[in-house]
Amino acid sequence: VIEIGQPEHSVVTTCAYCGVGCSFKAEMRGDELVRMVPYKDGKANAGHSCVKGRFAYGYASHRDRILNPMIRDSIDQPWREVSWDEALGFAASRLRGIQEAHGKEAIGVITSSRCTNEETFLVQKLARAVFGNNNTDTCARVCHSPTGYGLGQTFGTSAGTQDFESVERADVVVVIGANPTDGHPVFGSRLKKRLRQGARLIVIDPRRIDLVKSPHIAAAHHLALRPGTNVAVVTALAHVIVTEGLHDETFIRERCDWEEFQDYAEFVADPAHSPEAVEALTGVPAAEMRAAARLYAQGGNGAIYYGLGVTEHSQGSTTVIGIANLAMLTGNIGRPGVGVNPLRGQNNVQGSCDMGSFPHELPGYRHVKNADVRAIYEATWGVEISPEPGLRIPNMLDAAVDGTFRGLYVQGEDILQSDPDTKHVSAGLAAMDCVIVHDLFLNETANYAHVFLPGSTFLEKDGTFTNAERRINRVRKVMAPRNGYADWEVTQLLANAMGANWNYTHPREIMAEIAATTPSFANVTYKLLEEMGSVQWPCNDANPEGAPVMHVDGFVRGRGRFIRTDYVATDERAGPRFPLLLTTGRILSQYNVGAQTRRTDNVVWHSEDVLEINPHDAELRGVKDGDWVKLASRSGETSLRARITDRVSPGVVYTTFHHPGTQANVITTDYSDWATNCPEYKVTAVQVSRSNGP
Ligand code: SF4
Repeated sequence: VIEIGQPEHSVVTTCAYCGVGCSFKAEMRGDELVRMVPYKDGKANAGHSCVKGRFAYGYASHRDRILNPMIRDSIDQPWREVSWDEALGFAASRLRGIQEAHGKEAIGVITSSRCTNEETFLVQKLARAVFGNNNTDTCARVCHSPTGYGLGQTFGTSAGTQDFESVERADVVVVIGANPTDGHPVFGSRLKKRLRQGARLIVIDPRRIDLVKSPHIAAAHHLALRPGTNVAVVTALAHVIVTEGLHDETFIRERCDWEEFQDYAEFVADPAHSPEAVEALTGVPAAEMRAAARLYAQGGNGAIYYGLGVTEHSQGSTTVIGIANLAMLTGNIGRPGVGVNPLRGQNNVQGSCDMGSFPHELPGYRHVKNADVRAIYEATWGVEISPEPGLRIPNMLDAAVDGTFRGLYVQGEDILQSDPDTKHVSAGLAAMDCVIVHDLFLNETANYAHVFLPGSTFLEKDGTFTNAERRINRVRKVMAPRNGYADWEVTQLLANAMGANWNYTHPREIMAEIAATTPSFANVTYKLLEEMGSVQWPCNDANPEGAPVMHVDGFVRGRGRFIRTDYVATDERAGPRFPLLLTTGRILSQYNVGAQTRRTDNVVWHSEDVLEINPHDAELRGVKDGDWVKLASRSGETSLRARITDRVSPGVVYTTFHHPGTQANVITTDYSDWATNCPEYKVTAVQVSRSNGP
């Protein structure tokens, strides 16, 4: 006898929200998901979870899901439901027509960090092997692309250096531009446990996040810097370490390029980079910077964790380089308890970057100009691959406005809501002849689409996600795709409609192709993943069961590379008209733009975004707690309720961006990282005034 609500069987799979990658048992009754139970043998979570993975899965059966393909000739016409064959034929013919009329470079793809490694691999293969260009980019462009650049330049590969467990051996933890207790809660709990055991904490963040002071935890130093001055603070810490002789010369001589170190040491030793010199600029007391630098350099194992508060700046890549410099200076690389660790926002940011989604890199972070690497894929795919890097997302949109880029396939990403400068994104999309949106819901981007291909949820497919510690976790099909096809199958159907002859029958075959062509995945098979539970890349003959810690005997690039970190102020400045600086973040119960979590019961914990404002700034404007306020920038304006709090310093305001009505990207600027075009979401000059509501 089966009681109502009691499961009949369970399937172990991986959470599809953040980059922690928790394992869950999906408990099923027939084809119905009864509950998600944190899996005690999950290596990333060991039986723990947060409210997103545990409860926020109802979107999979939400009435808003689109289950049938739709097409329309132009975006001012209503959608027409059609068969898969008709939709794919329509899409393929439009894309081919564009290429015939405007050249093969006139179309491209955008992959998603929400999809599996196998799906992402196929989408970039679609661009390279079927479209015949490198016009493939990923939503990681707008979050961790500076990590790719910064860690690639300094260490030789774009990945966190440690496993999560490593934090249990850390003596000093530096958290920069991240809020792990909200953004990465299961890792945040692990970190808090270590802090309660006595590890010291340095927080570098404009906002007083929970870690700064919570029960039994108090940060040794909170460097509450002015938004946009990360580089100045990180370089000032290096100044103290070098000028006070706290650097680890033995490590540097043995592991790093000595000449580059000498050049860097000369650069940071300049008094212009001292804490005293940058105190006024950064708003951080010089003594606090000096004390923090000494603690990191002398406190034992030093581990750095960072997030989008580092990367989403005009100098995001420079700050990542600066963080890598700090770790190399102090020898905090290559053993448990130390390292440099980007906390990835989405479940598969790491994987989507690993799989060659960037327009200049084939899978495994190898440049498309490298003829030897191209030859591997040319032999496997039977095509010639262009040696020219393709277009990044913002360049695709620019080219669309110019009329030279006219067709786009977007899988699992709502670029109209998540990318900067909404007006420019909509202008670019509106100018195209064929926009194909492949998603769960009719998102904002779909307003500009000609083809809508229904997407599948993580519960409906097999594959793998790679979490922030490079751990390749299995995603297992819990139920049949409600839309008929898993996303990897849809990409294959589109490729074949365009003349390819792909015949994968299961994602394990795609992983076999990844392993055969990508050295860091060389030993990865679904069989190994079943045996091991999960593995961390590099997983090859040198590390047959994966590698929890990277750069143990040497850096991936050989010798670690110190690079100067000149501070260049963002062009976004506060002034008389816009005197406050807005920065943004996430809250525990919600996820990014809320497309999934707002369609679950988690919405009860967060029904609206609010604007945090310091009591001093609120009083100046006559704003009381709970008042509606107008938030205006040079780009646009929106309305929010005010929350008066000293979590933010005078001169700084803060909001989350989980509700579409907040329109955070209408407010933000179109400035971006100098190396990668990652948007500068974390610094916007704004004015706040009382209003009557939206
Ligand atoms: Fe999912 Fe991240 Fe929460 Fe784990 S911590 S349950 S991966 S959202």
